[in-house]
Amino acid sequence: MGSRGREEEMRALVEEIMSCTRCPLHATRKNPVPGEGSLDAALMLIGEAPGRWEDEKGRPFVGAAGKLLDSLLASIGLRREEVYIANVLKCRPPGNRDPRPEEVEACTPFLDRQIMIIRPKVIATLGRHSTRYIFSRAGLVFRRISDVRGRVVRARVLGLDVRVIPTYHPASALYNPGVKELLRSDFELIGRVVRGVLEGEEEPPGRGPKRRTLEEFMG
Ligand code: URA
Repeated sequence: MGSRGREEEMRALVEEIMSCTRCPLHATRKNPVPGEGSLDAALMLIGEAPGRWEDEKGRPFVGAAGKLLDSLLASIGLRREEVYIANVLKCRPPGNRDPRPEEVEACTPFLDRQIMIIRPKVIATLGRHSTRYIFSRAGLVFRRISDVRGRVVRARVLGLDVRVIPTYHPASALYNPGVKELLRSDFELIGRVVRGVLEGEEEPPGRGPKRRTLEEFMG
């Protein structure tokens, strides 16, 4: 697909999301939040669902968690225009409750299509909901975010070879300095892997002895 074709596909997809009524969340949303960023992004970040400010503005990660995300991206030399940011759910669950399985099922065909259009080399999953979904798409078992965060998981997702790097959701770091430190360290890893992939390295620089294979950490 040429870049013109991808732009048109994404435009059509965004239009579908804007008028979607596939699940009950359409009745309580103010604005759907399709996602945003570069269609040429090597790095795609996937969050959970819009919160209050995202619902107001129709844009992903514009509240307090978004400010932290911007600073994490800046720490690895990236601006949000250079990556693509999407969510598992495109509409806000009332009161920011967790996504329900039937909502994930109804909404994730949109995320799948976004992944297919962008064809990212690296997917950073932010929090357990997006990690669970992407792992399921890769045929991997997900148990706990703390088991897999900060690891580079080479996987085949929707027919694409990608490095999946799970980390904590930025919102969970807002009042927890320990989690914020781990996020910063995971973003350093994300930056190294993205640079490695863009420079055409087969094996990105590792994390030394802490870097284990999927089989090892999944037990
Ligand atoms: N949390 C998310 O998971 N996504 C957003 O867009 C904002 C907050």
